[in-house]
Amino acid sequence: MPAPVYEIGPNTDENVRIVKQYLEKTGRSCGECYTCCVALGIEELKKWPGQSCKHLDGSKGACTRCSIYHHRPKACSNYYCAWLVGLGSDELRPDRAGLLVTLYPPFNYNLAQLGYDPGPMNSRYSATIHVTDPAKAGELGDENSKIRQVINFLTQDECNDIRIVTMGSDKIIHLHNGFVRQGRIVKSDRKDGYEELNFVTINPPVGQYLVIDATQSVQSVQSEAQS
Ligand code: SF4
Ligand code: SF4
Repeated sequence: MPAPVYEIGPNTDENVRIVKQYLEKTGRSCGECYTCCVALGIEELKKWPGQSCKHLDGSKGACTRCSIYHHRPKACSNYYCAWLVGLGSDELRPDRAGLLVTLYPPFNYNLAQLGYDPGPMNSRYSATIHVTDPAKAGELGDENSKIRQVINFLTQDECNDIRIVTMGSDKIIHLHNGFVRQGRIVKSDRKDGYEELNFVTINPPVGQYLVIDATQSVQSVQSEAQS
């Protein structure tokens, strides 16, 4: 029996729809960061994930690196990483934290494909974390690490579907419906799949994490967790 594969083709317009609800809560700007210009695949530029954009140019100063800024593709001008729309503290800016978080519409995992019951999709959105610098991001097991801070923020914001990938590795960790599973990235056959995330995971889970009930406030969940 072939391994089950999640095929996720993130859609820029959908990403914008998800983050728009956060945009007014933050006055953040990218500053010296250009992580997304390296980490993400961009079809219009024929740029693969992890490949530095050919339009990156530091000669104009650290805050204006894009040499075609006023004519950059819609995929760039419409893109907001989760930090830019308010995720976490200032120190979690992607270049400082060594990880990039992108929010996507909730993804319905397919029971027939999986061979195990993934449970109902009860997340308001899904999130993909690209670990771009593991030394800065730290370990999942370290509760003070940057990656743990990001995951805590996402789960407290009722995100219950988090895919963690490390640039340059085919490994993936999937936090979904309270369970942690390991898996691997599967290469796409599509020549235009610049933003695809295809992966397989295995049962049983290797761990669990706290599921936030969407009917509870963050405060009540936090106080229960502390008691
Ligand atoms: S990763 Fe986020 S903060 Fe950094 S350049 Fe891209 S959108 Fe801006
Ligand atoms: S075109 Fe500009 S904004 Fe888009 S990825 Fe390249 S450098 Fe970044």
